[in-house]
Parts: sequence; structure tokens; C-alpha cells
Amino acid sequence: MQDMKEVVETQRRYFDSNTTKNTDFRIAQLKKLRSLIKENETGLNDAIYRDFKKSAFENYSTELFLLYQEISLAVKNLKNWSAPKPASTSILNFPATSYIIPEPLGVSLIISPWNYPIQLAISPVIASIAAGNTSIIKPSEHTPHTSSFLARLINENFDPGFLKVVEGGVTETTELLNQKFDKIFFTGSPEIGKVVYAAAAKHLTPVTLELGGKSPAIITADCNLKMTVQRLIWAKFLNAGQTCIAPDYVLIDKTIKSEFLKLAQQEIQKAAYSFENNNYVQIINEKNMRRLIELMGESKIYCGGKYDVQQRHFEPTILTDVTFEHPVMQEEIFGPILPVLEFSNLDEAIKQIKSLDKPLACYVFTSSKSIRNKVLSEISFGGGAVNEAIMHISESSMPFGGVGKSGTGSYHGEFGFRAFSHYKSIMQKPTWFESGLKYAPYSDFKLKLVKYLSRFF
Ligand code: NAD
Repeated sequence: MQDMKEVVETQRRYFDSNTTKNTDFRIAQLKKLRSLIKENETGLNDAIYRDFKKSAFENYSTELFLLYQEISLAVKNLKNWSAPKPASTSILNFPATSYIIPEPLGVSLIISPWNYPIQLAISPVIASIAAGNTSIIKPSEHTPHTSSFLARLINENFDPGFLKVVEGGVTETTELLNQKFDKIFFTGSPEIGKVVYAAAAKHLTPVTLELGGKSPAIITADCNLKMTVQRLIWAKFLNAGQTCIAPDYVLIDKTIKSEFLKLAQQEIQKAAYSFENNNYVQIINEKNMRRLIELMGESKIYCGGKYDVQQRHFEPTILTDVTFEHPVMQEEIFGPILPVLEFSNLDEAIKQIKSLDKPLACYVFTSSKSIRNKVLSEISFGGGAVNEAIMHISESSMPFGGVGKSGTGSYHGEFGFRAFSHYKSIMQKPTWFESGLKYAPYSDFKLKLVKYLSRFF
């Protein structure tokens, strides 16, 4: 195992050299990263296909595309993002001016999961570079081909003091977490999120935790059902349901449930999910296959339900007659199983959603403005969509992150820059005038004057 202390110290020396403080340097590194990814698209396609049969189409549309978008945005805006921002100054401090200087936090640790193994490892790196940090990246051990491809790509082309990929599992990550970082950015499960949070607390290191949860899709009777089914089925079975913001379960108005199920089954057939045509991916490993089989249990299967453990194939599956007490409702499914629960009273449905932890995403399919507003205002969740699912993640103009158990902090676009920055407040005061108001000896006159001036705040 590598000496993690040395890996971190190398980065600290690099950071202390002030090289990353230069915005032209950051832009050059981002452009270099973009070129490297572009030149290696085929290699990345092969690696991710070997890990879980993810196609070149999905690799581009759900991983690389988002990275190119994030890099372009950062290259275009990072000088502006990192420029000092003027702040207002009250008359009390006359003749001072105030401003806020964004500064990099320092040495960052980025720990990523397996489900979008390129995007979720590199997207935080883009934010970290843009903000002027150095980064140690620990990709998932469950996508070994992609992780080692990323390790080669980064470690052979960047100074290890600036960017370094450390491969490994729990042992290596634990050893890394024993070191002192200036920022830890973790994407993964809430359980491991707690481990990371506890390790960060030892050094009071700031964290961003991008976690998961059970993201509901609420479907009301007034929705455009055909469009709802098309968008929802795509979102659920993309990446075989192994998406942190996949609709985990459906809560549908009882009166349209049977029509929904019929259309959903047709939509699954139309999408022709299979390995042979590259429309579907494998479940990541046997452990998760077994977990999904167990979750499905003896449920009433509306469609799908077949699996092949050896091939790590699990059919897109819809379960009916599921209640909130069912095992499938006790944890994040993270696979191609869609439980469809019904409601006859929206208030009751909202109450049930709120009885679970705050989800990473929430979707509402409705034509009614008042229902939309009710759902958006009454349920707390990371982010979401109205009459759509998953696609909100593709807009870098919005923060992406959870709330409560689904995460803390956010990133993408400028929000990513902020996640890796400290905002330093500076007051600058010329020396040609001093009111003397704050100094002792105090007097009634001074108090009156301070009270008078405070009216202008
Ligand atoms: P995970 O928590 O098991 O692993 C994530 C990372 O933590 C990996 O790099 C792994 O090596 C490391 N790790 C695992 N056990 C560890 C330990 N004991 N100590 C230290 N490090 C450890 O998550 P996963 O299975 O890779 O991914 C699935 C989870 O991630 C789901 O809950 C999903 O919702 C969530 N997720 C969230 C987002 C998001 O953006 N919010 C995105 C993708 C996945």
C-alpha cells in the first residue's frame, strides 16, 4: 500500500508553492483534462463496458457530456468566480470599503462511488481545480477497469502534487481518511457518509456529502399519463436503476394506477432493455444481485422479475401491492425494481413520504399548479423535477446535492467552485480619517451618535 501520509504531504507542498493560486494555471489544467478525456474516449468506453456493460451512448450521455459541460463552464467563468467581490460597508466604518476574496481550501480528498464511475470521480475534480485546490481522488473498487484507467490517465499526465488517483477499497480509504485534509468531498451511501463525516470531524475538515435515499415519484390523476410513463420508465431503468436520483418508488392516484401499469409495461417492452443491443447494463456485482433478489422477496410482480445471477442481469421489474411496511420500502433500492404504491388522498401520500428520511430527489407528475406548489413546498428534498425525472442534474446552473440524510452541501457549476472555496471577508480602511467613536472614554454624546448612525444600517 502507498504511504498515504507521503501522498498528502506531496500535495501540501505543491499547494504551499502557490502554483494553484494562478487562475491561468487552473484554466490550462482544465483544458488539459478535457483534451485527455477527449483523446481517451474509446479507452474509457471500453473500461466502463468491461465493468458493467455500459454502452458508448450512455457513457457519453450520462458521464462524459456532463464533464465537458462542467469544464467549459469553469474555463469560461472561473476568473470571474475567483475575483474579489465587493461588499457594502456601513457608515459606522467610514471611510472603509469591504470585499470578499474566494480562496482555495487547500488539499482535497474526493471519494467516489461506482454507479457513474467517471462522472462522479471527475466532476468534483473540475470544481476543485477551478477553485485552486490540489486533489487526491479515490475512485470505487467496484469498477476496477474504469478506476485503473482513470488512475493511468491522471497519474501519467499530472504532477502528483496537483492531482493523484489512489486506487483501493476500504483499507486504502481508511488510511487516507486518517490524514488531515482541507476538504473532503464524498459521494456514496449514507452509511459510509457517516464514516467519512466522523473522520473529517477529527480535524474539523469541511465536507460535502453527496448521499442517497428513497426518491419518490408522485403521479396525480390530472397528469399527461403517456408522457409521464415515458419519462419515468426511462429515468428508473437507466443504468439498471443504479442511479442516486432514480425514482425509487411511485406513489400514484388510485384511479389511474391500472392504466399506468399497462402503459409502463408497454414502455419497458418498447425500450427493449437488453445487453445484446446495448440498451441495458449489468448489476454491479453479485452482492447487489443477491440484495435485490432478497428485496423483491415474495412480492406480487406485475412485470419482469427474472434474473440471472451469473450474468448479473436483472429484468426491469414492477411490483404492485406494496405498502410502506414492505422490505423494498425500508432501504434505497438502487436497482431495476419499481414498487408502485397507490393513494386516494394526496395529503396522506405526502405524510407518508415525510415519514421517511429526506430524499435526494422528488418528482411530481401533474398538470395542476396547486398540486405542484403543494408538493414543492411541503416536502423537503435535495432537488427534483416537475413532469420530468433525473434531468435536473444536467443543468450546471443549479446546485446538486441532498438535504438531511441524503447529503450536505452541493456542487456543479459555480456551486462546485463554492464547495471547494473559502470566502475570506476583508475590510480595508484608509488612514486619513478616524471618527474616534469606538474608543474610550465613552460618553452620552457618543452613545447618542452611535444610536443615530445605526438608523442608517
Ligand atoms: P459506498 O458508500 O459503498 O462507497 C462509496 C465510496 O466509499 C467508495 O469509493 C468506497 O471505496 C468507499 N468506502 C466504502 N466503504 C468504506 C469504508 N468503510 N470506509 C471508507 N470508505 C469506504 O457507495 P456505493 O455503493 O459505491 O454507491 C452507492 C451509493 O451512493 C447509493 O447510496 C447512492 O445513492 C449513492 N450515490 C449518491 C450520489 C449523489 O450524487 N448524491 C451519486 C451516486 C451514488
